[in-house]
Amino acid sequence: MLEPYPEITCIDCGGRAFLLTPPRDDGAWLDGDVVAYRCEDCLDRWDLVLEADEPGDADQPGDADDLS
Ligand SMILES: [Zn+2]
Repeated sequence: MLEPYPEITCIDCGGRAFLLTPPRDDGAWLDGDVVAYRCEDCLDRWDLVLEADEPGDADQPGDADDLS
C-alpha cells in the first residue's frame, strides 16, 4: 500500500521533519496525494507528492502502446 514516511530528513538543516497531514478516514493514501512535513529544527514546511512506486519501464509490455 502507498504510504508516506512518518518522518523525513529536512533538506535545509538535516533535522527531522514530521508528517503533518492525516490520512483519509479509511487510512488510504493515493498516488498524487500531497503530504506536508514540518521540520522540528528550522520549522520549515515541506510538501511532497506521493507517487506509486513503479519502475516506469519493463513493467508491463502492453503499457508501451502510447509511446509511438
Ligand atoms: Zn530544517
